Amino acid sequence: MEVLNRQGSTVELDRGFRFGDDFFKLLNFVKFPNYKDSDRNSVENQCEIFYRDIMNYGFVESHNQHLRDGRYDLAAKNLNEINKLSLDPLTGLRKKEFLKRKITSLESDIYLEAISDFSLIMCDLDKFKEVNDSFGHSVGDDTLELFGKLVLENLRPCDFGYRYGGEEFLVLLPETNLPDAVAVAERIRASIEQRLLIGHYGLNQITAHDLCKSLIKPADDENDAFFLSKDITCSFGVANFQDCSQSGEDLFSHADENLYVAKEQDRNKVVY
Ligand code: GH3
Ligand code: MG
Ligand code: MG
Repeated sequence: MEVLNRQGSTVELDRGFRFGDDFFKLLNFVKFPNYKDSDRNSVENQCEIFYRDIMNYGFVESHNQHLRDGRYDLAAKNLNEINKLSLDPLTGLRKKEFLKRKITSLESDIYLEAISDFSLIMCDLDKFKEVNDSFGHSVGDDTLELFGKLVLENLRPCDFGYRYGGEEFLVLLPETNLPDAVAVAERIRASIEQRLLIGHYGLNQITAHDLCKSLIKPADDENDAFFLSKDITCSFGVANFQDCSQSGEDLFSHADENLYVAKEQDRNKVVY
């Protein structure tokens, strides 16, 4: 997405840029670096949080220098580059390397009373080996790409989604209690169940699709018909920081245990 900054030069904001998730807010920040707002959710604060969680402070220095120089286009470029470095290119979710930093930062936010709670969702695609074995690795990759997109669609701008392993993912939800986190996990689970599938049109090659299954109707002409080859589902384990004696490690193992239970209970479930 390309936008013009105040000086008329082009500022490009990359796909996948998420803080505030509001490109125009970001642009405002880039345009008006002296933006003041005491609210933690202000663009300025979000920007700082973004730097702190995602990258090292070297970038902050160069970012601030660009702002001092009035080079807001370079500041935006800087943000985009940092963002890109932190994303898994296939799924568009954050790389695992940035997870620890984010958990530590949420923990310190709790001690500083900047936030009161957070939750963790762990998820793992069901029987994913079968996808690769039956349809090939490239269809598997397409499925993962769409999965990332569906997860992001269900998150707030302040939430963080990570690719933890091949087909394992984590979501961190600041200021979210257990029932609300379960609701988010359930929403993601349902949208995967309802929309993510592998199929093909007529004689076309089999690929992964992000469709609304309820809208798929049998066609008269077989060459135009959509054929469903496989449903994709996902299992979820959810845990809450306050419920886990305020320990990041505890939180992690609780979510992991719950995910294990979801797998034991026939999969495609949210367990908490
Ligand atoms: P379960 O429901 O118990 O999780 O079964 P599963 O088959 O998903 O679990 P398992 O851990 O045995 O297999 C995970 C598979 O995910 C194995 C691997 O082929 C696939 N996978 C991991 N990363 C990628 C990737 O980047 N691309 C593709 N296409 N497949 C991947
Ligand atoms: Mg799996
Ligand atoms: Mg797995």
